[in-house]
Amino acid sequence: MTSRNQTLFEKSQLLIPGGVNSPVRAFKSVGGTPIFFKKGKGAWLWDEDDNRYIDYVGSWGPMILGHANPEVVEAVKEAASNSLSFGAPTARELEMAELICKLVPSIEQVRLVSSGTEATMSAIRLARGYTGRTKIVKFEGCYHGHADPLLVKAGSGLLTFGTPSSAGVPADVAAHTLTLPYNDSHAVETLFSEIGEQIACVIVEPVAGNMNLVAPQPGFLEALRFQCSKFDSVLIFDEVMTGFRVALGGAQSLYNIKPDLTTLGKIIGGGLPVGAFGGRKDIMEHLAPLGPVYQAGTLSGNPVAVAAGLMTLKLIQADDFYGSLNKKTSRFVNGLIESSKASGIPFSAQSIGGMFGIYFSKSIPTSYDQVMQSDKEMFNRFFHAMLHSGIYLAPSAFEAGFVSASHDENEFDQTFLASDNAFRQLGNH
Ligand SMILES: *Cc1c(COP(=O)(O)O)cnc(C)c1O
Repeated sequence: MTSRNQTLFEKSQLLIPGGVNSPVRAFKSVGGTPIFFKKGKGAWLWDEDDNRYIDYVGSWGPMILGHANPEVVEAVKEAASNSLSFGAPTARELEMAELICKLVPSIEQVRLVSSGTEATMSAIRLARGYTGRTKIVKFEGCYHGHADPLLVKAGSGLLTFGTPSSAGVPADVAAHTLTLPYNDSHAVETLFSEIGEQIACVIVEPVAGNMNLVAPQPGFLEALRFQCSKFDSVLIFDEVMTGFRVALGGAQSLYNIKPDLTTLGKIIGGGLPVGAFGGRKDIMEHLAPLGPVYQAGTLSGNPVAVAAGLMTLKLIQADDFYGSLNKKTSRFVNGLIESSKASGIPFSAQSIGGMFGIYFSKSIPTSYDQVMQSDKEMFNRFFHAMLHSGIYLAPSAFEAGFVSASHDENEFDQTFLASDNAFRQLGNH
């Protein structure tokens, strides 16, 4: 009997490229049919065939409170009943700006946009406009949304031109992006000593979450701060994922480094489309209408989206919210490690705040190359075994995962029953 999920996927593929509106959703990496969800509540999801899952994806990060949080839903309803959009300033945007600047003190001024991609793309234009320079530096395995200058892979040497990582990106756009290995402070120093005066900005995920989870090694973020200060380049922390996720003040508070600009997304919209970029006032004042760097958005600061984000940001300030979230996430990670032990399968895992990485490798990777060496086939089998037991993990070996404040003992008990079984199956193979 064909399931409704299957039928929907088959029909979707006729009308939507690949059947999905964002590529990773297609299950291409793990194989099989993507799940079509119709409902979520707390840590739980229901699909179109009425199967129930415990969610460890959280819409790729935003759902830190769990699904359909009653206060967030109420805030959205209230805002919606007073119009969905004005295209004009609102008091709630000011409240949001005040809250962002309070929670992330390196942000003196902030502008709201509608996605993480828009935030990073705008921050880079601003850094270029502010410095009058063209070259930008990024790191292998970091993802900063899908704007042209960021879909670039490294050339053959440190100083060689970047090349497009997607068709449709002009080579001469990619040529201005230099890509270095993550956690390689020495490469950063060498590059800056050669062409530091030409570098507009360095953009980095301060905890990398788009190549599974890779933590910054001691000294790496410090080296970026040091070189950017020395050469008057703009240091951009892309905290679209890590903002309000690894700590209330983001990765910059956890590692105690102050970037010049920060980009935000995901949690800041509580599940609706909101992004933001902000930082030093003297840089932000280069934006239109004050300055010469153009940036705009018809739906920027949308009242309904901002209502969801604002309520989310209010609720995550509860006492011990992050203490409790950290404990839950490390409980999840340690439970999986326990499950793996008897199987003899190389497995490691770690968490930082509310995000986690699970690796089918003996030790925790610290670079893109090491992540790529993990056993992808083993992950895929694990993914499907877990899915079969009602545990929804990210459908790729190269994504970080997320725990929400709604996950609790009951959910973890069920998760570990499933993981015990999954590892037993993998070990018997
Ligand atoms: C998700 C993500 C983006 C892109 O955000 P979208 O809202 O998907 O455009 C950018 N940077 C990082 C670090 C992300 O995790």
